[in-house]
Amino acid sequence: MTVAPLIDNKSLITPVIGSDNLKYTPRPAIFADVPDEKWNDWRWQMANRINSIEQLEQIIDLTDEERQGLQAEGLFRADITPYFAGLLEVDDPYGPVRQQVIPKGAEAVAFDAMMADSLNEDAHSPVPGLVHRYPDRVLMLITTQCATYCRYCTRSRVVGDSSANYTRADHDRQIAYIRDNPDVRDVLLSGGDPLVVAPAILEDLLKRLSEIPHLELIRIGSRVPIFLPQRVTDELCDMLRKYHPLWLNVHVNHPREITPELSRALAKLADAGIPLGNQSVLLRGVNDHPEVQMELVHKLVKNRVRPYYLYQCDLVQGAGHFRTPVSVGIEIIEALRGHTSGFAVPTYVVDAPGGGGKIPVMPEYVVSSGPNRVVLRNYEGFITTYAEPDAPYTRDDAQMLRYLERPARDEGVQEGVSGLASGQHMTIKPEGFEEAHQRGRQDEIEKRGKRNFMDDYS
Ligand SMILES: *Cc1c(COP(=O)(O)O)cnc(C)c1O
Ligand code: SF4
Repeated sequence: MTVAPLIDNKSLITPVIGSDNLKYTPRPAIFADVPDEKWNDWRWQMANRINSIEQLEQIIDLTDEERQGLQAEGLFRADITPYFAGLLEVDDPYGPVRQQVIPKGAEAVAFDAMMADSLNEDAHSPVPGLVHRYPDRVLMLITTQCATYCRYCTRSRVVGDSSANYTRADHDRQIAYIRDNPDVRDVLLSGGDPLVVAPAILEDLLKRLSEIPHLELIRIGSRVPIFLPQRVTDELCDMLRKYHPLWLNVHVNHPREITPELSRALAKLADAGIPLGNQSVLLRGVNDHPEVQMELVHKLVKNRVRPYYLYQCDLVQGAGHFRTPVSVGIEIIEALRGHTSGFAVPTYVVDAPGGGGKIPVMPEYVVSSGPNRVVLRNYEGFITTYAEPDAPYTRDDAQMLRYLERPARDEGVQEGVSGLASGQHMTIKPEGFEEAHQRGRQDEIEKRGKRNFMDDYS
């Protein structure tokens, strides 16, 4: 396996660490004298993060726009680990790493569609930090802190403020909610970044969650391996592996983030039996090109990380200048699907503004259909016909369900379109639909005893 090329900037120095030929990301020169022992200690990295103009200008050539961004009032926290600062493109203000973590004046520019809580998470939050949006899984925000802060962060309204962190009492209530809700089979620890939480607290949370009988798996979403690969110690991996099935999604946006350090951290996690996925955000000027995404997914799968989601940028304050049209995401999936390994293709999703959850968006592959025929096209534009079976299709549902361990849970209205397809309901009506359509003659309708024909079905 080849590792990511080291960046070649004069102002950086490459430390010689050990004699094992391991490759390292060059350090910013201001950290030249830091002993390797400290450099490789995640606590040192956290304690020595960079957040001032004075420090940053010793590392990169700051532009006026960036200075303006760093001095803006009410700035969403800027803080960069010394390790990650080594990846900043020194003299390119449009560098893909640099743009993700160095604020710009444009952050302060509002845009029409911007929303405070674009995913409407507050409405789905039964206890602080717990978001129960989907029928069977919950998002559990355990901290507001991260190793480094991303300028486009979806949760910038809660993230970054160290005086407003989740407490032990919040964690207790989150866990109690999950314990009391047997429908929850999957918990996703997020934040902030769960892997910056003190090791003993993190383990205590995992332990308590793993003792909930109906919880089938635990997931962690973390950008720590990218910002602070030093945190991925053998001890951490040994701790995490005790709580299998445990899945981990990392967050890499650009191939430049895949350094020798990250590769080694990912290898440790994968060797601990943790299935690894990646979630990226589609960011204008950072990764909004099919070839960038192709290189990214190839490097990820070489590191045993499966691309999971590619997110459309949320309508969040500070992220306006990162937004792309949705068509760019579709273009990217078109360029990946069929052109590379199937498991290297992420699902492109728009997280529905207003709290609708993630909506997959992709190119169309069904071109047309006719009697007993579906017309399909492939990635090359080859168009073909799939002939459906001649005999009418029937299914013996009782037979199909006979060998399952669990009867289906009742999802109520969240059954959604699949409830229409299965014949449970005939329609889904927008709010106010009934009222708008009560224009018939009420006496006639009452004689029939039905308000409208749809009541026959519901
Ligand atoms: C993304 C998300 C999940 C997990 O969704 P998956 O599609 O299962 O990965 C769960 N809860 C909330 C609120 C989310 O935003
Ligand atoms: S690591 Fe995640 S939660 Fe933290 S700032 Fe970045 S996007 Fe936001």
